Amino acid sequence: MDHKEFRVKAKEMVDYIADYLENIRDHRVYPSVQPGYLHKRLPNEAPQLPESWDDIFKDVENHIMPGIVHWQSPHMHAYFPALTSYPSIMGEMLSSALNVLCFTWASSPAGTELETIAMNWLGKLLGLPECFLNEKNDSPGGGVIQTTASEATLVSLLAARTRALMELSSLNPDMQSSELLGHLICYCSDQAHSSVEKAGLIGLVRMRYIESDEHQCMRGVKLEEAILNDKDKGLVPFWVCATLGTTGSVAFDNLREIGEVCEKHSTWLHVDAAYAGSAFICPEYRHWLDGVDMADSFAFNPSKWLMVNFDCTAMWVKDSTALHRTFNVNPIYLRHENSGKAIDYMVGTQDANTRNKIDITEKINDDTILENYNDKCDSSVTNSDEGYPLSEDFYDGSDEEANLHGYNAIASGCQSKIQLENPDKNEPLHWQIPLSRRFRALKLWFVLRNYGVVGLQKHIREGVRLAQKFEALVLADQRFDIPQQRNLGMVAFRLKGDNTLTERLLKRLNGRGHIHAVPACFKGVYVIRFTVTSQRTTNQDILDDWSEIKTVASEILMETFG
Ligand code: PLP
Repeated sequence: MDHKEFRVKAKEMVDYIADYLENIRDHRVYPSVQPGYLHKRLPNEAPQLPESWDDIFKDVENHIMPGIVHWQSPHMHAYFPALTSYPSIMGEMLSSALNVLCFTWASSPAGTELETIAMNWLGKLLGLPECFLNEKNDSPGGGVIQTTASEATLVSLLAARTRALMELSSLNPDMQSSELLGHLICYCSDQAHSSVEKAGLIGLVRMRYIESDEHQCMRGVKLEEAILNDKDKGLVPFWVCATLGTTGSVAFDNLREIGEVCEKHSTWLHVDAAYAGSAFICPEYRHWLDGVDMADSFAFNPSKWLMVNFDCTAMWVKDSTALHRTFNVNPIYLRHENSGKAIDYMVGTQDANTRNKIDITEKINDDTILENYNDKCDSSVTNSDEGYPLSEDFYDGSDEEANLHGYNAIASGCQSKIQLENPDKNEPLHWQIPLSRRFRALKLWFVLRNYGVVGLQKHIREGVRLAQKFEALVLADQRFDIPQQRNLGMVAFRLKGDNTLTERLLKRLNGRGHIHAVPACFKGVYVIRFTVTSQRTTNQDILDDWSEIKTVASEILMETFG
């Protein structure tokens, strides 16, 4: 494709996109294809000779579109929203064309600086405390765009782990990092997203799941009980993840209570607000943020509800040096003459050899990781043998004993290096795991400017209003129940009676393909999650969806009870 053809075909593509989005209701939201459908339709090898754009695009219509789930459809109620918008698409177009990799300031100054500016704007929009912003050059706090909430959680856990290991190693200079690692323990609620469990798995640390209350919220009392219990066993609590807007029921952990416990026990507090974070641009929802001043890191996905294309997770930290300590590498090819004067989202610049460093080398064996995982997934751990107390009376320091406990990282296999150090105050910081990073700030900046605060607030409020409308329809029908309180744009509902009725209802609804939803289970109670996703959803869409649900429910009840 040359530039002449690109001008023509790209304009056609823009029309195609606009037609697609404006006529999205013409598509059945869930496709009717079966696994492997595309393999049967496309050749096994890439073409030897160039193919015309028209031929390629014909295949999009004939073969790709039939296998698409239409996430932008007003009838898409599964998961959480993954919205796009025209200004965001424009941001993606331009950033695709520029294709700059914004890992250092020098690799694309505008990319780096726009990210800092947009993240400050967004942080203020949410009402985050000033300590999370990066408005002054020497401010330790700041925002960074990560790919996903899962990655933000992992980054936070690793940073907290490094901080805890530093403290432990200064108190126990004779102990190896693998021994110290075995003492660490972190916490989240039993309603936290699976990505939190995954972060613990990757971080090789034990995770304890705190039983949520009757509203699916984690409370300070239960958390503190668990922390005190674990301390008694010689474990070292170091990280807590609070969820604002759980995946199952959009429940909110009690941030103030949890923050107070974290401050008291000096643990890092991470806030995962993947979906609900967008709502905090409306002041009326910020009461759930009470206590956020006690958090160390906070993340949400503008790529969910705020109409910024995936991928875009906004993450703020109070002390970015904690990230730097964790991700410190400094190869010569990434240094530049302005190093230290601006943010480098990926790399540091000070000569690594000049630092006062504690190098800890670990060899990690796959079996040990598995053993570790199985062990830490057990939330009912009560035996003090499960952890090793720092006292050598309890732990003899041998690899054999460490392996027994499932937390030793010493064995043959791959080698990872944890470098614990105290960074220089003026040194640039590391903010993420990958080196390369897309110019994601562009789409965020376009959306913030093109909608304005008022436009974005209107969008969030309309989503909530439509969810309230759906909730009222469900509650007016005696056959249905809403076992958990609705929060924001999600209603979790069920047919009264045995779980199997609701399971059959959901299966049949998804099979018909007019609406798409997924289930959740609250302490054994099976529900259908109905999330209002699209900014195109109207009152009529909600009425149509409810009518579809009622029709299928009547069929099922008739088949079951006659
Ligand atoms: N945290 C919560 C509360 C979520 O609901 C989700 C996904 O919906 C995630 C984390 C994972 O988000 P991501 O796909 O951005 O990793």
